[in-house]
Amino acid sequence: MAFRPAPVDTGIVFVRDRIEIKASFENVSETVFSTNLERNGVKVRTVEHLVAALVGLGITNVFIDVDGPEIPILDGSAMPWVSLLIKAGLSDQTKPQAVVRILKPVVYGEGSAYVMALPGRGYRVSCRLNFNHPAIREEHMELSIEPDAFVRDIAGARTFGFLKDVDALREKGLAMGGSMDNAIVIGDDRVLNEGGLRYKDEFVRHKILDIIGDMGLLACPIEGRLVANESGHRLHIGFLKHLATHQDSWEVGVTPFVEKPIFQAFGQEVAA
Ligand SMILES: [Zn+2]
Repeated sequence: MAFRPAPVDTGIVFVRDRIEIKASFENVSETVFSTNLERNGVKVRTVEHLVAALVGLGITNVFIDVDGPEIPILDGSAMPWVSLLIKAGLSDQTKPQAVVRILKPVVYGEGSAYVMALPGRGYRVSCRLNFNHPAIREEHMELSIEPDAFVRDIAGARTFGFLKDVDALREKGLAMGGSMDNAIVIGDDRVLNEGGLRYKDEFVRHKILDIIGDMGLLACPIEGRLVANESGHRLHIGFLKHLATHQDSWEVGVTPFVEKPIFQAFGQEVAA
């Protein structure tokens, strides 16, 4: 994989076999275990953690060259991408960034599994999950998605799975590369990884990472508050399609011009 700078208004664009695949919900082909894109028969799988890293850092324009069908899972979090992108350096665009501003509540889902968007300043995400399992009980978290908070509180949270599901996947020839190096593995009553958890509520933090990545496929930053309850990739993408067809609920606005490059939020100097 290689990241290349892209002009203003390009968006996040994957390039594979010379086919450009925009990171947009309109190009989502599948949402079973991960969020997968496809255009003209060319696929890029498992884009959500990488898109989350880009959105979390405030990166709106980039080309990502890939030479295979799947984005590497690395350690199961977005932190390796965040470190790489900060090291590469970011530059500020001189044109104000368009945002999708939520004007009135929009809800999508069934029963206790739903995603809701509400008006609000900035971009906030609230997430609740409850697996009713000895190792994952109810967890809830809400935070403003700004670069420093994203890097500190969300980027390092790893994906997770239950050992019984991993065994079932392997019988079907899937998840062969899956191990405790790239996921939290949950047994009957506890986390099996030797080092334990990175945060005591790492599961809900990872769900927020997934939400940020999937909502990044709106292809325009959101201004408003998202509330997700017991949600997953399928529901997130369904929500975006629902939002797109309810145009009375949002408007396209622009953020005030930001004088300083966004990476200065970390207090770090990086060569652009
Ligand atoms: Zn994930």
